[in-house]
Amino acid sequence: MSDTTTFADLGLRAELLAALSALGYEEPTPIQRDAIPPMMEGRDVLGQAATGTGKTAAFALPILQRIESGGSRARPMALVLVPTRELAVQVSEATWRYGRELRARVLPIYGGQPIGRQLGALRDGVHVVVATPGRAIDHIQRGTLALGDVQVVVLDEADEMLDMGFAEDIEAILDVTPADRQTVLFSATLPPRIATIAKRHLREPVRITIERTTGGPDERPPLVRQRAFIVTRAHKSAALGRILDVEAPAAALVFCRTRNEVDQLTETMSGRGYRAEALHGGMSQEQRDRVMGRLRAGTAELLIATDVAARGLDVDVLTHVINYDVPSDPDAYVHRIGRVGRAGREGVAITLAEPREQRLLANIERATSSAIAVEKVPSVAELRARQIETTTEAVRRALTSDDLTRYGAVVDELAPDGDVRRVAEAALKRFHELRAAEVEEADIPEYVPRDDRPSRERRHTTGKPGGRVQRSDGRKTRLFIGLGRSQGIRPGDLVGAIANESDLSGKDIGPIRITERFSTVDVPEAAADAVIAAIKQTTIKGKRPTIRRDRDQERR
Ligand code: AMP
Repeated sequence: MSDTTTFADLGLRAELLAALSALGYEEPTPIQRDAIPPMMEGRDVLGQAATGTGKTAAFALPILQRIESGGSRARPMALVLVPTRELAVQVSEATWRYGRELRARVLPIYGGQPIGRQLGALRDGVHVVVATPGRAIDHIQRGTLALGDVQVVVLDEADEMLDMGFAEDIEAILDVTPADRQTVLFSATLPPRIATIAKRHLREPVRITIERTTGGPDERPPLVRQRAFIVTRAHKSAALGRILDVEAPAAALVFCRTRNEVDQLTETMSGRGYRAEALHGGMSQEQRDRVMGRLRAGTAELLIATDVAARGLDVDVLTHVINYDVPSDPDAYVHRIGRVGRAGREGVAITLAEPREQRLLANIERATSSAIAVEKVPSVAELRARQIETTTEAVRRALTSDDLTRYGAVVDELAPDGDVRRVAEAALKRFHELRAAEVEEADIPEYVPRDDRPSRERRHTTGKPGGRVQRSDGRKTRLFIGLGRSQGIRPGDLVGAIANESDLSGKDIGPIRITERFSTVDVPEAAADAVIAAIKQTTIKGKRPTIRRDRDQERR
């Protein structure tokens, strides 16, 4: 983290710098620092980076750097291929945000969305197309996606695309792009199949990996208990509140990625009754000093900060470091959690990870050779139990040490006949209400893994029960699809189409049977209707399939 490269140092144009600053990005992440310069030189790049590292901006910014502003009826100059529709939307939204000042036109194309809308947008002209391979092939075959002017092709999450059976589609798409294009491949893992694709389609790529091993055992803070919670974005601030209530830190430092997130979270947590203060690079030294003063004096309990602002911060009152997002690389993680566990005291480091970010957590565990225990967000019942505990502790302290005589008159007035017990109960109730943060009645839903990916990738170090739950009862339904071998259908096409159009992963799908004229595929009963509805809206190998529950299910 000694490197303090700024976005301006990377040579990005003013419109992009303005957009990044408006988004509250304070400095490039490691993958951005490493990938943007070679990409701007036109080099091919082979990057190993998972979601959460900032890889989208790493490829989107150099693409946007090339845009001729004002040129609106352009044929696409960049094509980004992604495995799922969710990612297509996410990447195109991010690219659009970064290219806002340039009025960049970015279009996601994926199966399941009416093709007409995509056609209209393509006709109007776009700069960047973000597509799933299947739908890109559909458009190429219809002659509606012209890739002759493409200067940059990005294969994002290449390993996932191969897992979903898109290898041939990718080859076919690359074949219709200009040979002198720039090709960039990002993948969380680099198995031999990726190396093969890279060898065939990338020219002398610059290899970048952000998974560096840092901090030998002596560098790591020895007394930091490291824990993580998997929560979806929608439940993050509620989960943070719940965790804080149970942990009751004396003072906590909460890290966010951007200034805007710092401001938003500070507002949210203040609204929830915490004494929270923001600290980021946009504040003057005087403002920062004031914030630090409040933290040291104990009038603030939460300091919400960006990495940049917290650099060099030395506060010994801190008991907890909380990563509101998984930091973009292990170095940043080590740096952040080093803020607690000083001077021989035990500190706690808590990381909130979104489901897609579990891979980053595994990277950090590997790079720091330390285990991060994945735990469940405390339930409402656990929280209540904890609040009763703290109330009891507080009253016990008062009984032993405080001078209580002036309250005797209150008891005398309320319980002239001596029913002191009732008075004590009522007083406790009132006290409890006053100090306990408001509890939302609803529990925060536990994140249920979509498939076995996390368990393949990472050891589940949780010591708590109930870490993962089975999603369905395992009952499967056979679906009939009116496409078979004579239409060139292979298992990968079906898995790819179904996985792409629904929430299912490869593991949920199968067995698959392909005959000359039709195919059958088994999917979890609970998802059958959704799969049918989604596949009806899409095309497989350029054809619109018939799909229904297999009537001959029993006999076959
Ligand atoms: P990605 O790995 O591309 O999915 O990005 C993960 C998250 O990091 C997204 O929410 C981005 O908005 C955010 N992000 C990307 N680059 C930066 C940066 N340089 N500073 C702060 N946040 C960033």
